[in-house]
Amino acid sequence: MPSPPGWREVPCVACERFVEGIDFGERCRDCQRQRARRVAVIARRAALVATAATGAWVLSRPPASPTAQWTGIIAVPATYLLVRVIVGRLAMELLP
Ligand SMILES: [Zn+2]
Repeated sequence: MPSPPGWREVPCVACERFVEGIDFGERCRDCQRQRARRVAVIARRAALVATAATGAWVLSRPPASPTAQWTGIIAVPATYLLVRVIVGRLAMELLP
């Protein structure tokens, strides 16, 4: 929602500090930065846990063929990337 003309400062939805250059219902630059940092930490931790689980699963099963071995080698970093992106998106949408 665009701010009405003539309104220079609008309260941040998170910290309620009046800030210039944002619209109603938006966060100030500091709150956005703090939220992005929190989301990155959550996404990184979730990706590490999922990657460790995938790595343990791959190591627990001896590969039957070279194709299975390569699939396991590729699955570990792919799990990290996918989980980090997906959890980051979800956290950005769901965190207050
Ligand atoms: Zn704020």
